Amino acid sequence: MDKRQQVFIDGQWRDAADRATFDVLNPATGDVIGTAPMCGRPDTALAIDAAHKAFLTWREAGSEARAQIIYRMYECLMDHQVALGALLTEEMGKPLAEAKGEVAFGAKFFKWFAEETRRVYGDVIPSPWPDKRIVVTKHPVGVVGAITPWNFPNSMIARKLAAALAAGCTMVVKPASQTPYSALAYGDIAEEAGVPPGVVNILTGRASEIAAEMCENPKLRKISFTGSTEVGKRLAAQAGAHMKRVSMELGGNAPFIVFDDADLDAAVEGAMISKFRNAGQTCVCANRVLVQSGVYDQFAEKLGAAVRALKVGNGVEAGVTQGPLIDEAAVDKAREHITDATSLGAEVQVGGDSHELGGLYFQPTLLTNVPRNAKIFSEETFGPVAPLFRFETEEEAIAMANDTEYGLACYAYTADLGRAWRLMDKLEYGMVGVNEGLVSTEVAPFGGVKDSGLGNEGSKYGVDDYLDIKYSLIGGLKT
Ligand code: NAP
Repeated sequence: MDKRQQVFIDGQWRDAADRATFDVLNPATGDVIGTAPMCGRPDTALAIDAAHKAFLTWREAGSEARAQIIYRMYECLMDHQVALGALLTEEMGKPLAEAKGEVAFGAKFFKWFAEETRRVYGDVIPSPWPDKRIVVTKHPVGVVGAITPWNFPNSMIARKLAAALAAGCTMVVKPASQTPYSALAYGDIAEEAGVPPGVVNILTGRASEIAAEMCENPKLRKISFTGSTEVGKRLAAQAGAHMKRVSMELGGNAPFIVFDDADLDAAVEGAMISKFRNAGQTCVCANRVLVQSGVYDQFAEKLGAAVRALKVGNGVEAGVTQGPLIDEAAVDKAREHITDATSLGAEVQVGGDSHELGGLYFQPTLLTNVPRNAKIFSEETFGPVAPLFRFETEEEAIAMANDTEYGLACYAYTADLGRAWRLMDKLEYGMVGVNEGLVSTEVAPFGGVKDSGLGNEGSKYGVDDYLDIKYSLIGGLKT
């Protein structure tokens, strides 16, 4: 699949209105790999117009026709899995196997929501009046603006786009500037799958201008955002001023709790996938590893061995399990968290600084005896740094886990079923992994509470974010 260096509006490939572009880099090499259009408000208005025109027919297309096209998108994504994976690694840096896995994961949302298209049920509510009937129907909200991050350039779009199309909405997508090509490839996928022009529009460029047009344009009815809590809050306020609906998938600060009775090998395996997948750059990454004192040393030793076994390098090379970080700011943040923690008494067991490969490569790092006043306890690191904290009791672990403004994912390893249920009740998070370090699947609702966001993606609940409820009262019926 070719690298598209134009944006996709109303079924056509085009440049920004003023023909401005920006460079796109490969984080593994620092090389410029191409350019993308630097769109602004006029381009966004054009895309919204196209999406609005297309909405008027797409919403009437019928669930069967929509389901077939969405399913075809699933097939096209899988047909191009290898090429899309290579594109993703080139612009984002994650190892090729992870990139191909992400494409398959994204594709599954199209398969799932193709099926859900047929299940947008309404209700008939028992009427308190003998001569009246109460009917509830569900309707697509309209044109949706999606703004997505760089860490999962394919699947973060898939979770929104597939659900929106199933509901009968049309979409304008603005991906992160670091990873435009995986997003623009959706233009090719849409064309190949037979999506009508204007139903899917993808434009790259100035985030604040594009967001301002999305918030203020009356033809756009909803904004679905995945990214940092800081930007999400600003965007929600901006959208609120124009009474747009919002879905917000924001940052996290996941606790990963290991109790004395846990299967330690399983806990190490879970911690590795939760913490080090995507070089620690996932919103559901274990950010704080809380370990009960009875197994603390043993767990630290086993985890240390697994961390040492990671292979850092360019994601296109065979056997590499950790690619570069996305940019210099990400490297600085990882280093800052390590320096802060060690200045407060934490010990570096593995790694601790930039990798000898240089550039944006960072050593997989394990810190022990990290104190609770370290920055890494309260801030999202978004890098390959695992800090171990110690606790004594279940109550203390729950209090520590909940001591954050975030509430996205959390994890706990224990063999005690009663405790597992108590944790599921008391941990203030949108997602709980019990004896599991990876919870994402298209069939379950993905979403956070507190500062981690609003709404859910995936599952039977995911389509609700793109539907309005309408109540009709039918009176004057003869009894
Ligand atoms: P980010 O800086 O918030 O950027 C995300 C998107 O917002 C990008 O497309 C960015 O565009 C755009 N943006 C930047 N400034 C904006 C503004 N003023 N108005 C509107 N949009 C704006 O986040 P990131 O660094 O890409 O992603 C990492 C964050 O995303 C982490 O906090 C992570 O936890 C979170 N995340 C959450 C989930 C979830 O499902 N909850 C999933 C993945 C990631 P530009 O690139 O052009 O600046």
